[in-house]
Amino acid sequence: MPQPNKTLKETWNETLHAHFGQYFSVENILYREKTDLQDLVIFENAAFGRVMALDGVVQTTERDEFIYHEMMAHVPLIAHGRAKKVLIIGGGDGGMLREVSRHPGLEHITMVEIDAGVITFCRRYLPRHSAGAFDDPRFKLVIDDGVNFVTATQEKFDVIISDCTDPIGPGSSLFTSNFYQGCARCLNEGGIFVAQNGVCFLQQDEAVNSHRKLSRYFNDVSFYQAAVPTYYGGIMTFAWASQDPAPRRLDPETLRHRVAAAGIECRYYNPAIHHGSFALPQYLLNALTA
Ligand code: SAM
Repeated sequence: MPQPNKTLKETWNETLHAHFGQYFSVENILYREKTDLQDLVIFENAAFGRVMALDGVVQTTERDEFIYHEMMAHVPLIAHGRAKKVLIIGGGDGGMLREVSRHPGLEHITMVEIDAGVITFCRRYLPRHSAGAFDDPRFKLVIDDGVNFVTATQEKFDVIISDCTDPIGPGSSLFTSNFYQGCARCLNEGGIFVAQNGVCFLQQDEAVNSHRKLSRYFNDVSFYQAAVPTYYGGIMTFAWASQDPAPRRLDPETLRHRVAAAGIECRYYNPAIHHGSFALPQYLLNALTA
């Protein structure tokens, strides 16, 4: 294993946006490696704990990862209500798998991750993200580009979660019509697709483009949201797509009943947050109907 790289300067600056950004003080660099596909760094920051970034963009931090992973896992799974098979695209840090595997009714959880190196490094340097979930007997790992998998697989899933990077580098293929068409193809009846779709105040075009492309293959397309501190600049939008609008419109009482039955206690997610997360800012609604 190559030695940690100490040349990173005392701060780390995110490069996602050209004219606006965030920085982290770097207390300790745990690892830096250019995998075959991405530039990966994991460092320690006094405010957010361990931080993992890919190609200059924050992917996850120990302190706030629970918000994102709880919302991307429990909103579709509670809304579905009887999922047995889940497909995670990306998710190499293991946080999404940890939250998904908390649902006892699931029988199979497949992860399609393009970069095996991310899993290797995150299991070692971010162990609390996966918290042993990679050893869940229901879990199957496929190393491939997510678009290849959803285009070719003969398997069907009840929930698909695209826990991918932003649409730069290898992540760009997960924001294409081919990918969305493939996801529509390998969802069971009543199936739900969700995807991280950026901070809509800063990445509004990405939300508009995803909505337009998803609407070709799904009858019910919208977003839900949560504020994740290190996905800075406003609310994080999660794309939602299904053939049936009912799961997106469940009433609070049904949500309360299902969450209680699932026996899942969270730090961010709860039935009221679930229900309220589908309320979207008017500027986004206007952009989606323009
Ligand atoms: N929570 C983060 C976010 O919202 O930006 C995502 C975290 S996770 C680390 C993103 C994962 O997507 C990485 O492990 C990356 O290797 C993987 N990935 C990127 N492009 C992919 C593709 N085309 N197919 C499958 N996995 C991909």
